[in-house]
Amino acid sequence: MGRDVLPSSVTKARTGRVFHSTLGPLIPVYCASCSALWGLVQERLLTFAFVVCNACEAKNGPIAGLMSEPDEVFRERQAAAVADEERRAGRALSALEVEARMRDGDGPLALVSREWQAHVRKVATP
Ligand SMILES: [Zn+2]
Repeated sequence: MGRDVLPSSVTKARTGRVFHSTLGPLIPVYCASCSALWGLVQERLLTFAFVVCNACEAKNGPIAGLMSEPDEVFRERQAAAVADEERRAGRALSALEVEARMRDGDGPLALVSREWQAHVRKVATP
């Protein structure tokens, strides 16, 4: 994607899954710096997680400001691709048109979508 992104705090194998009666499957999230267990997150809601424990942040200071959070990178690239496609079309695109162009076709929005899907599969694949 051309920009630095944060590492995942979820293990690739997603080991240690716990089943909660109302929340469903929960998976452990670990400190990206020292690997200490940080907590549990709902697996069905999770696309990405990056955490640093309180001890590491106190010791090392905040590091997130030096890197880009992947969702933020995706939103910036998507906004740039929408602007590019609207410039090509000579008009504003509806939300349905943006969705269709992300799903199909070979324009800038489809490229951003394919790269994001590949990134999500890479960080979420066990
Ligand atoms: Zn830590």
